[in-house]
Amino acid sequence: MVDFVLPGDKICEAEEYLPGRGAYVDEEGSVRSKISGTPRFNSAERTVSVSFPGRAPGINVVGSVVYGRVFQILSQIVLVQLFPYKTRRFRLVPPGMIGAIHISDIRREFVEDIWGEFGVGDWVRARIKRVVKRFYPQLSTVGKEYGVIKAYCPHDRTPLVRRGAMLYCPRCKRTFKRKIAFDYGDPRLPR
Ligand SMILES: [Zn+2]
Repeated sequence: MVDFVLPGDKICEAEEYLPGRGAYVDEEGSVRSKISGTPRFNSAERTVSVSFPGRAPGINVVGSVVYGRVFQILSQIVLVQLFPYKTRRFRLVPPGMIGAIHISDIRREFVEDIWGEFGVGDWVRARIKRVVKRFYPQLSTVGKEYGVIKAYCPHDRTPLVRRGAMLYCPRCKRTFKRKIAFDYGDPRLPR
């Protein structure tokens, strides 16, 4: 059973379930999702609807700490693929959730160049700042415990090591600027 779909993803055939909220039927009779979310099958009504995971338990807990990997950097926003995880107090569901860090939420100071703060492939720890229905959860890395916890050299994939406030590649000797967490390289992970 599909537990997370993106807009346009096929959920099932219309003969199996009819589209409810957040779903539609295409010309071929396939039921597809209008939004990113979790399909819910109602066998009594024989319908399937898709609800945004922002309403699922856990994800809308503002202030919660989340972990993920940077997969895209735009001029004002860093997009992070969040990892599903569960602790005694927090549950982040479902897999495939994306969070966004706005340039103004990276650090306390004004950030001029977003590319000097994160790199694609970096592992980050962030805090959920705000959840707006139907949008990506907005994350913040303001504070010393938040930011990059592990990064690799974009040229040779060597794990970068910390050198003061910078990251350094022991192989090609290049230096990189990042918004790093205080425990970069040996992060405390959730339990
Ligand atoms: Zn390198």
